[in-house]
Amino acid sequence: MSASRRIILLGPPGAGKGTQAELLAENLGVEHISTGEMLREEVRRGTDLGRKAQGYMDRGELVPDSLIIEMLGGRLGEGFILDGFPRTIEQATALDRLTKLDRALLIGLAQDEVVRRLTARRVCERCGLNYNLLFHPPQVEGVCDVCGGKLIRRNDDNPEAIRRRYRVYQAETAPVKEFYRKRSILAEIDGVRPIEEVFRDALDTLAGSAP
Ligand code: AMP
Repeated sequence: MSASRRIILLGPPGAGKGTQAELLAENLGVEHISTGEMLREEVRRGTDLGRKAQGYMDRGELVPDSLIIEMLGGRLGEGFILDGFPRTIEQATALDRLTKLDRALLIGLAQDEVVRRLTARRVCERCGLNYNLLFHPPQVEGVCDVCGGKLIRRNDDNPEAIRRRYRVYQAETAPVKEFYRKRSILAEIDGVRPIEEVFRDALDTLAGSAP
């Protein structure tokens, strides 16, 4: 069987989608595409899209489907791991028209663990690299190991926005699971374990036959 090369990662905020997408993309030799990171880059550059998206992001709401779909159109090549997209049924339907997916991998995490993790998350304001004070701290407090940039808290990693993001996930994104379950490409793994363990499980799951 040929390995999966067109993969989406689903799961609540803080489940480790970004971290796992990075590791999987390197291992499988495919591109890592994060719509959240693309949007934060637009905000950093002060583009028209960035200005439109920023308010939604800071409040922990979803950016309108039309903006996201337009931003992503044309970015998808032969092999990719999509992290943070699709987040609504409308996005899943649009993606269906753009490409044929091999697998949808759901990383599960309960709400109290989501809050605990996101409160401890830090991100480099210069290069965007993620850290977590609980299980992946920087070598020097407040400084990025790789580029020396300052580590900050994301605007949307405050208690109010975290709670809203989890609610939005339950209401808007959880139905996307069923969308892929019906197509028989959904697999679920438990995200509450150490990074390396989740990664092994993800690789094994993606290497196996469709569930
Ligand atoms: P993330 O980095 O994936 O947690 O995304 C951060 C924020 O960007 C989200 O809370 C949304 O406001 C926005 N965002 C990212 N991806 C999407 C998407 N596929 N649809 C709508 N909004 C998104």
